[in-house]
Amino acid sequence: MIDFSNPNDPIKNIIIPRVEELDETYNDLDPSGEHNYMVVPGLEHKYEDTALVLFNNVCGGYCRFCFRKRLFLDDNDDTINDLSEALEYLKEHKEIKNCLVTGGDPFITGSKKITNFLEELSKIEHLQFIRIGSKMLAFNPFVFLEGDLVERLAKIHQKKKLKIMAHFNHPNEITKDTIKAIEKIRKIGIMIYNQTPIIKGVNDNAKTIVELISKLIEVDVIPYYFFQMRPTAGNYGYSVAINKVLNILQEAFKELPGVFKNIKYTMSHVTGKIEIIGVVEDKIIFKYHRAAKKEDTNKVFMRKNNPTGRWLEEFEEI
Ligand code: SF4
Repeated sequence: MIDFSNPNDPIKNIIIPRVEELDETYNDLDPSGEHNYMVVPGLEHKYEDTALVLFNNVCGGYCRFCFRKRLFLDDNDDTINDLSEALEYLKEHKEIKNCLVTGGDPFITGSKKITNFLEELSKIEHLQFIRIGSKMLAFNPFVFLEGDLVERLAKIHQKKKLKIMAHFNHPNEITKDTIKAIEKIRKIGIMIYNQTPIIKGVNDNAKTIVELISKLIEVDVIPYYFFQMRPTAGNYGYSVAINKVLNILQEAFKELPGVFKNIKYTMSHVTGKIEIIGVVEDKIIFKYHRAAKKEDTNKVFMRKNNPTGRWLEEFEEI
């Protein structure tokens, strides 16, 4: 899919290493502190009603700006093959209402291992729905078009609602084959949501954002989150200042009808999922969309604006 005659090809920028990755401004492999919320091997429990299972440590390709690159390193111990302890934890903790199964990419091969695991989850009564985080619709839609993965998912979806959290960064990733795979999944009733970070050299302009949102809506995928790039080691060259992202989104939203504008721009901070609302004079407004401390959920707060700031700590407390 890469157009190698274009030095700025967005797909190339997603997947081919860039020299900027050697910049050591960011040096933390887990800046959102995911590991701190690992309650049993392979399972994170940060928000009371939500659990996150790190199903595997392989992906369809390796996004250069990946915030979970620690999973792909040799000394990773955040993912394990045997998820029986994670299953037991989910069964015992009735406050958990939904589970996000991610990785890596749980759909990398479309094997029975993932559907067997989802089947087990579907038996847990207190789970209302199950989300699966996957970029396979972009990396390899054939995993859904060939074999019987979608048929197996359909059977589980009848028992417990499944939702796919897709990861399209640029409209060029939505090819004819991807659209066929989306149609096949939508036909069995599974909703597909999209989340993407704003990435320098990939989607950091209003025109691309308008195209991406319009295309997603056209193919029946719900645009859900825009993320601020996490300050993960190697990612500095891919991140964009928060004020610049706000301007890009403001410009893009002028071009879009109201129905597309419920997308949230957020930062997955160690303290919670923080929505970035906007700048007023010399202040920037944030809101806890989800918070690790339950009492902070929905709390709106202000910090001194910093036009070059890329993460919460770069905005001074008032
Ligand atoms: S799809 Fe997600 S987990 Fe996989 S490499 Fe890309 S950002 Fe990382």
